[in-house]
Amino acid sequence: MNFSEHHLSDSELRPFFTDKRNIDDNSRAAALIRQQNDRVDGWPRLIRNLDTYSRIQKDVVNVQGIDIVVTLNETRAPSITAKTFESKQFNSQPCILCNLDAEQKGILTLENRFIVLANPGITIPGDLTIASVNHDPQMIAGSFEEIVSLSKTLTDYSIFYNGAMAGASSPHFHFQAGLKNTLIAEQQIDRLLNGSRVGNAELIQLCESKTGRLFFLNNYLRAAYLAVSSDYQEVSRLFRWFYMHLQQVDRLIRGNPNVPDFGARIISMNINETEPRMNLMLKYIPETAKYLLVIFPKVFNRPAAYFKTGTEQLIVGMAIKESLGNLITVREADYEHLKTDPSLFTKIYSDTSITPEMIEELNKSLKMK
Ligand SMILES: [Zn+2]
Repeated sequence: MNFSEHHLSDSELRPFFTDKRNIDDNSRAAALIRQQNDRVDGWPRLIRNLDTYSRIQKDVVNVQGIDIVVTLNETRAPSITAKTFESKQFNSQPCILCNLDAEQKGILTLENRFIVLANPGITIPGDLTIASVNHDPQMIAGSFEEIVSLSKTLTDYSIFYNGAMAGASSPHFHFQAGLKNTLIAEQQIDRLLNGSRVGNAELIQLCESKTGRLFFLNNYLRAAYLAVSSDYQEVSRLFRWFYMHLQQVDRLIRGNPNVPDFGARIISMNINETEPRMNLMLKYIPETAKYLLVIFPKVFNRPAAYFKTGTEQLIVGMAIKESLGNLITVREADYEHLKTDPSLFTKIYSDTSITPEMIEELNKSLKMK
């Protein structure tokens, strides 16, 4: 892949920096968003989507004491309806991350291994897609250090990862990023870590090392795990250890209607599935010099309601933004249903998260250190 024609140098970004003295990847990303949104030189698809985004509808629904944001947001339609990993046939369409639009620009980071792009599917303006410069498969094993480095470089952002069978919309290796603490669950998790209440949610510590701690987040509608450490090596080690145990537990994903068995062929990547299904968020907090990793282990990205017909159907795709409490709909009827029936959220989260039996087995193995 040749990204050189899409890469913007600091001198090309210069008109878009607000502070020309302190240039780092945070200010480059902010300048990139301004450049891509420029009416003359920008990226028409992003500009159109920002116009659509200005008209989104949004509501907050309290579900068993926990607030969830629901939006009607058509800019997310391509990723919400993407069937990249559900198709039974190999997709012969060209890869969208290898074949960027002519006006789509980015900045290279981590010694040119990744290109940072504006994410055209906007949950919050400023959202980024961070794509590998190579068409590698969407698998994080062996690349966890990369997400740790990104979190340390892009400190204004939370870095996200969706596993292939857990809501990613492209088989090309990529992360996403969003401005820190803009999604409701990020704020709720911070409150819990500071000892405040969020519904009946509770942090249960599973294990502790010299520099890190791992928690299970109980009674939070969806299964979630938190790792906190001031040491980047420790956060990587905790993640690898979690990954290995979740991989064992994911063997229980089999024989569910509409959910591919764990370990089956992933046609769009031409490999057999080995990666446990999950959504990740990682951020580095300079004020406390700590990393916060949040893992949402998943059964699949589609709840049962997705496969129903007529008025019972809900077109939703449960990926990291949804795990972080921002449920995105692209049809008015789905938006109205969800706004008026909190029990639908309970069902959607429980359909797509790992089951209570899987949680029990996982927690048992994570406690053994
Ligand atoms: Zn590609």
